[in-house]
Amino acid sequence: VVQVRNLHKSFGDREVLRGIDLDVAGGEVVCVIGPSGSGKSTLLRCVNLLEQPTSGTIEVLGAEVTDPDVDIDRVRTHVGMVFQQFNLFGHRTVLENCTMAQRRVLGRSRADAERIATANLERVGLADRAGAMPGQLSGGQQQRVAIARALSMDPQLMLFDEPTSALDPELVGDVLGVMRDLADAGMTMIVVTHEMAFAREVGDRVVFMDDGVVVESGPPEQVIGAPHEERTRTFLQRVL
Ligand code: ATP
Ligand code: MG
Repeated sequence: VVQVRNLHKSFGDREVLRGIDLDVAGGEVVCVIGPSGSGKSTLLRCVNLLEQPTSGTIEVLGAEVTDPDVDIDRVRTHVGMVFQQFNLFGHRTVLENCTMAQRRVLGRSRADAERIATANLERVGLADRAGAMPGQLSGGQQQRVAIARALSMDPQLMLFDEPTSALDPELVGDVLGVMRDLADAGMTMIVVTHEMAFAREVGDRVVFMDDGVVVESGPPEQVIGAPHEERTRTFLQRVL
């Protein structure tokens, strides 16, 4: 589903990604961990071309997104992205937040969009808040709306960039629970996270990044449980 080959990305003369390879298969959950500034968000943003790679190739859902002729909007239609900041429209209801892109991008009728949005709000446990404004919801609820909004576009791939790190601790569990359900339902996911328990239990694979390279990648019980690399051990000692 995703193939990253020898990806480099520089901002000015600072090389932030220095030759990344990453493969994600259908139905796989890949958790990306690593210290602040190691390039995790930049990698995720390159996957749907929110950042333009300096060199290397990226294939997403069969399309070479690094090809200048690619229809990136078509690819992005199938890729859901959830950020640390939820980016909901504050002056629109929860339901409207979940129907707007369906109607505008997919051309769905109001009735279809509302039916699909309601089903996804139910999935994240918020069907009863469809008429609320985002500001009336907790951060955890807003993040679940952001997930429902992404799911309403029928994504084939979901990208999460530290979706729980802006939340109060007591709200983190509900969001991780929704993500776990998604993983169990077979969604292909790349999850940048500091939640080691989540990475360990839900991740099929864990990728440890440091200083713009993948230092170590493998099953969670190896990368988190028994890392081969000294740099991985040092990082885990700080966060566990
Ligand atoms: P964190 O865990 O703090 O979110 P990260 O691993 O996601 O960190 P990135 O956000 O990918 O790290 O940033 C990697 C490096 O690239 C950092 O040094 C950052 O300052 C730099 N960087 C990121 N975006 C830009 C930008 N638009 N312009 C210049 N430098 C940037
Ligand atoms: Mg980041």
